[in-house]
Amino acid sequence: MLRIAVVGSGPSGVYTAQALVRQPLLPGILVDVLDRLPAPYGLVRYGVAPDHEKIKSLQNTLRSVLEHERVRFLGNVEVGAHGLTPERLLGLYHAVVYCVGAARDRRLGIPGEELAGSRSATDFVAWYSAHPDAAPADFGLGARSVVVIGVGNVAVDVARVLARGAEDLRPTDVPHRALGALAGSGVRDVHMVGRRGPSQAKFTTKELRELGALPAAEVRVEPADLALDPAYAPARPPARSTADGAVQGPAAGAPLPLAAVNRRNVEVVRGWADRPGQGRPRRIHLRFFLRPVELLGTDGRVTAVRFERTAPDERGGVRGTGTYEEIEAGLVLRAVGYRGVPIAGLPFDETAGTVPQLAGRVLRYGVASPGEYVAGWIKRGPTGVIGTNRACAKETVVSLLADAPLLSARRITADPLDALRAAGHRPVEWPGWLAIEDAEAALGASLGRRSVKIPDWEGLLTAARGERGPSGT
Ligand code: NAP
Repeated sequence: MLRIAVVGSGPSGVYTAQALVRQPLLPGILVDVLDRLPAPYGLVRYGVAPDHEKIKSLQNTLRSVLEHERVRFLGNVEVGAHGLTPERLLGLYHAVVYCVGAARDRRLGIPGEELAGSRSATDFVAWYSAHPDAAPADFGLGARSVVVIGVGNVAVDVARVLARGAEDLRPTDVPHRALGALAGSGVRDVHMVGRRGPSQAKFTTKELRELGALPAAEVRVEPADLALDPAYAPARPPARSTADGAVQGPAAGAPLPLAAVNRRNVEVVRGWADRPGQGRPRRIHLRFFLRPVELLGTDGRVTAVRFERTAPDERGGVRGTGTYEEIEAGLVLRAVGYRGVPIAGLPFDETAGTVPQLAGRVLRYGVASPGEYVAGWIKRGPTGVIGTNRACAKETVVSLLADAPLLSARRITADPLDALRAAGHRPVEWPGWLAIEDAEAALGASLGRRSVKIPDWEGLLTAARGERGPSGT
C-alpha cells in the first residue's frame, strides 16, 4: 500500500490522482490531493473563462475523481508554509507528485511595462475568475481603447470578455463586483496584437472563431498586416518536370506548407479581412507583425503602446523593419504566456521555468530523486490544452509505479492528515468544499443569479466551515 501526495488539484493533479487509483497493479494506493486554495480544480475554476461553460463542466469529471473512496481533497494546505517543505512532505508520503502549474506571467522586458494601467492578462483572468489572491482591482475599464499583447488563447479570452456585454456574462459564475465593473465598461476598441503573422499565432481556431460570433462586437483585420504573412503570398505553380527532365521548383514567394490548425486560423482571419464593418458598438482589431517596444504614458499612466513593424524571416521568426506605429491604450493587458514558480527545496530550471525531470521523475543534480515527481505545466511548460495533461500525468504515474518497490520501503507517518493538523494546517476537506459550493449557490440566489463565486479568502474559509458569510461579494 502506497500513500501518495499530489500537490495541486487542477487538471494535471486530478488526472494524476485518477491514473493512480485506476491502475490495476497497486489496487490499495491512497492519494491525498493537496491544494493551497480552499477550492479545487485549479485553472478550470480559476482560469477557464466564465463564458466557456462547456470546458467548465469538466469540473464534473474532476469531481468524480476527488470523490473516489481512495482519494482525499485537502484544500488550504500550502507547501512551503508552516514548515511543509518538500523534504517534510517526503516524510509523510511514500511519494509526492507536484502538479502546481505555472502561476506567474511572463514579462515583456520593455520600457513602460510598470506604468499604471499595464497589467498582466493573468491578473485580469484572476479578477474575473474570483481568485482569492486577485487584488480587488480597478482595471481602468473606463478606457476606450485597450491593447492586448500576444495572440494566444489567453489573449483571445481576455479580448472576448472585454468585448462581451455584461448581460452576456450575467448567467455565468463571474463574481458580482467584476460583473458590475464590466457593466460600466467604456471599452470600445480592443486591439489584440501579435509580433508574428496569423499563420504563426498560438490561438486555436475554435477560440478564434468565437470572436466573430459576439453579439455586440465585430472583428476588424488590416489587409496590409496579412499581406506580410508568407501564407498569404499569391499561389504559384507547384514543382513540375519539364520536357528535358529538369525539375522546376515552386518559385520564391510560394505559400509555406502550414499545419492544418494554422491553415484554419489563416482562413478565419482572411474571412474577416474581406468583411465590411457592421457598425457594432465594440470592435476587436486583430493586428499582426507588430512587436511592442515601449509603453508610453503620461503622469505615470499608460496612454499608448509603441510597436515596431516586423517582417517574416526565413526561419519562422521576424525581424524589425525600423518603422513604428503607436496604438492608443488606456489599459494594456500583457498576454505573453505563463511561467512556473519555484518551490523552495525543489530544483528549478530558471530558464525553462519548470522543474528538471525525466519521464516525470524529479532530477536533483541530474539524478532522479526517489519519491519526487512532477506532472502538468511545471513539468513540460505552459503549453497544450487541458486534455494534454491526461497523457502527461499518465507518463508520470507509469514512472512512479515502476519505482513502487523502492517507494514502499520508505518509512512514513501513519496518517499525514494528523501530522498536517499538528503542524498548524487547517485543511478544507471535501465536506468543506461542498459547503463552499452551497454558499456560492445561496449567494447567486440572493443576487438573482445562478451560482456566484466567492472572491475572497475569508469568505471561502467561512463558507467551508458551514458558516454564513456576508452576501453581495
Ligand atoms: P501562448 O499560447 O504561449 O501565447 C503567447 C503569445 O504571446 C504568443 O502569441 C507569443 O508570440 C506572444 N509573445 C510571447 N512573448 C512575447 C513578446 N515578448 N512580445 C510580444 N508577444 C509575445 O500563451 P497563453 O495564451 O498564455 O496560453 C497558455 C496555454 O494555455 C496555451 O497552451 C493555451 O492554448 C492554453 N489556453 C487554452 C485556452 C482554451 O483552450 N480555451 C484558454 C486559455 C489558455 P510568439 O508565438 O511569437 O512567441
